[in-house]
Amino acid sequence: MRQLQDRIGVAPDTIEIRDLGFRWGSCTEKGKLLFHWRMILLPPERIEYLIQHELVHLHEHNHGPAFYERLCRAVPDHERHEQWLRVMGIATVCRRSNSFACLREVTA
Ligand SMILES: [Zn+2]
Repeated sequence: MRQLQDRIGVAPDTIEIRDLGFRWGSCTEKGKLLFHWRMILLPPERIEYLIQHELVHLHEHNHGPAFYERLCRAVPDHERHEQWLRVMGIATVCRRSNSFACLREVTA
């Protein structure tokens, strides 16, 4: 978690685990991050992605181009994670997951 915070350059005030219904994670204006309790059942790399996604929301409170620019920098293959999470049943990350093309191609 510490490592991820350093990568995104921001730290949440608090983190809470609850039942978020159809969302994996969410972020409040006051800097609190919420995660669905089912997240703990996911493979570590997916959990890492969700945490980074929400941390980026502390900078950008929407899914606009600025958000995806930061996300791409932190997680170049974020599309792959989002697709996988959609397939796993909980439909969206946050409110809705607009698909913006990543600025860089993923080669790894
Ligand atoms: Zn989001």
